[in-house]
Amino acid sequence: MTTTRTQRHIETAAVHAGERGARGGFRTTSTPIYQTTTFLYDSAAALDAAFEENPSFVYTRHGNPTIVALETALATLEGGEGTVAHACASGMAALHTALLATGAVPGERIVASRDLYGTTAALLKNLFMGQGYDVRFVDFSDHAAVDKALGEGEARVLLGETLSNPLLRLADVPALADLAHAHGAQFVLDSTFTPPLLLRPLDHGADLVTHSTTKYLSGHGDVLGGVVLGGPDHDATLRAVTRLVGGAAGPQEAWLTLRGLKTLPLRFARQCANARTIASWLAAHPAIERVDFPGLANHPDHALAARLFGATVAPGETTEWGAMLSFAVRDADRARIFAILDRLELCLPATSLGDIYTLVAYPAIASHREMTARERARVGIGDNLLRLSVGIEHVDDIITDLAGALVA
Ligand code: PLP
Repeated sequence: MTTTRTQRHIETAAVHAGERGARGGFRTTSTPIYQTTTFLYDSAAALDAAFEENPSFVYTRHGNPTIVALETALATLEGGEGTVAHACASGMAALHTALLATGAVPGERIVASRDLYGTTAALLKNLFMGQGYDVRFVDFSDHAAVDKALGEGEARVLLGETLSNPLLRLADVPALADLAHAHGAQFVLDSTFTPPLLLRPLDHGADLVTHSTTKYLSGHGDVLGGVVLGGPDHDATLRAVTRLVGGAAGPQEAWLTLRGLKTLPLRFARQCANARTIASWLAAHPAIERVDFPGLANHPDHALAARLFGATVAPGETTEWGAMLSFAVRDADRARIFAILDRLELCLPATSLGDIYTLVAYPAIASHREMTARERARVGIGDNLLRLSVGIEHVDDIITDLAGALVA
């Protein structure tokens, strides 16, 4: 049966009916999820022009209004005027994008912190070293060693994390940025443990900053994502790499992250306040041998944290120290730690961080599983060490749960 252009078959209606009807003109309080791969224009000439725009809404890997809304929000929080953000599918995609965007090529040197998140270290060892990059791992708190490693080869990149996992050693961002720049290298910093309320590394000289937005920025343990941020001179390269490598965020994930971001200051204030109380409580607990928390005066980077974290604090406000802490249980072996984990009723034994839920991780079986017990002990990560990502629950309930689990 033939049809006219207005009377089509049911199969065609199933595909097109209802779509593209009421377009534009709405003002919504929240950004809608533009769950579409492609965008339509009134004419071929308009489509042609759209390819050249920035942001360009032609194909979602190139740009999408929901993703751009998230990128605008992240750039505003992390750097403000002139900062660009490129949202990625995960924190690892963001790190990969950032490393490629530095322009480093095989044969050139990447100097990296010895204390990196395991998968980031594996990315460097398995992918980058395999392709001929000259990757060197150094102790980030030993600036003479960093300087030496940067000076020996064709150093293009210095890569680290703001706070190390699980000992929470803080990178001296301004000093390391100066070292990198003195050798003509770019300083790439993973700031996942330090949301912009605590530290904005771009303000202190970092060239590119990444986050796993899976963690604090989205905050609810329900979405995977990442972001790379930098100055305007990185925009074109970051855009090109995202398009080529394809690690772009999806609209639904971008929307969930944007939604989570709105309560970041509220969540993080509560998490930091809870962490301060819990750190002091643990430090006084007879079963606890050591607490690693930058807010405690005996932490090796307490003074540095006061300087760097204090930089984001308005006069009259209290300096916060973040909401991650680790603690070593006195004389505990693996069996005792397992028993503690199994007795927890509120805190969740999960390997992520930054969620509204309090999460407990056991580095020996999770993030540092690949190391031998002796290697772990050498870097201060005993088999008696637990890491806490403090959530927004009532602090008394978290402490009651920990106290119950710590009973001998
Ligand atoms: N960077 C740090 C410091 C992390 O802790 C993680 C994940 O735990 C990542 C990067 C990777 O993030 P994602 O899991 O979103 O890829």
